[in-house]
Amino acid sequence: MENLEQKIAQASTLEALEKVRIEIFGKKGILAAEFAKLKDVPGPEKKAFAEGLNRKKAQLQARFDERLSALKEARLQEQLKAEALDVTMYSGFGEKGALHPVRETMDRIVEYFVSMNFAVESGPMVEDDFHNFEALNLPKHHPARDMQDTFYFKDGTLLRTHTSPVQIRTMMRQKPPIRIIAPGAVFRRDYDLTHTPMFHQVEGLVVEEGDKVSFANLKWILTDFLHYMFGDVEVRFRPSFFPFTEPSAEVDISCIFCGGKGCRVCSHTGWLEVLGSGVVDPNVFKAVGYENVSGYAFGLGVERFAMLLHRIPDLRSLFEGDIRLLEQFR
Ligand SMILES: [Zn+2]
Repeated sequence: MENLEQKIAQASTLEALEKVRIEIFGKKGILAAEFAKLKDVPGPEKKAFAEGLNRKKAQLQARFDERLSALKEARLQEQLKAEALDVTMYSGFGEKGALHPVRETMDRIVEYFVSMNFAVESGPMVEDDFHNFEALNLPKHHPARDMQDTFYFKDGTLLRTHTSPVQIRTMMRQKPPIRIIAPGAVFRRDYDLTHTPMFHQVEGLVVEEGDKVSFANLKWILTDFLHYMFGDVEVRFRPSFFPFTEPSAEVDISCIFCGGKGCRVCSHTGWLEVLGSGVVDPNVFKAVGYENVSGYAFGLGVERFAMLLHRIPDLRSLFEGDIRLLEQFR
């Protein structure tokens, strides 16, 4: 019995201690054997014998518990040491991701207009005829509707062909002043070198009461924006036609590939078309119930900007998910 405490103290691992536990406290262990002797102890000595044994058992149990927690603590420390991780260590391997060029270009465009105090608005991609066409001065059978090959659903709803319905929804929801951009995906039935069935637009709309907003405001902000995106380029406004603006202008920058001398990308004109814009047509204001207001609007294709900024020749390559193309933008 005397060497049992020593045995416990000498168990150097949890496994060794478990063996000792079975040896001492187990059903067929040393203590059980000692208690079994109780029946042979003469009557008057039984009580003292049992008390002595119980005291001894309690003592051993206490030694055992101490040893167990000490060994557990040692095991834990060992484990912590073995599994220690230096999170500051440079690993040198693993692939780093990057923003898709369309996302990155979109972010840059949004960043500019947010810095100019424009709010960012969004709307549903499945639209109805009123928000996508009618309210934008494109009544049924208007020839300009043919310019847009629309995806229709059986119930007459459609995939929005531009983010302009967001402008309509915003104007119907709130009163001027309005100063928003609407970035998002739009859909048209087109697929070639410069068209994909889904692409991204950012449209902008500014509306103020009275005649505070003019073409001059539009010209200033778009020129500043294009300098922000493309650096030191020339900007020109060309008269054009859009159903929802009057007057309307297409906006060109001097070709960033040839500096305006003429090359294949600019079709030897020295200019690249990048934006559509104009003063909001009174019919659009009428459709949303606005009176005595003035405003301008503009729109651009994000992919077109990404292609120009990153010199990407085929629009479709932006959506093929080819890792070799995407790796270049890390
Ligand atoms: Zn050129």
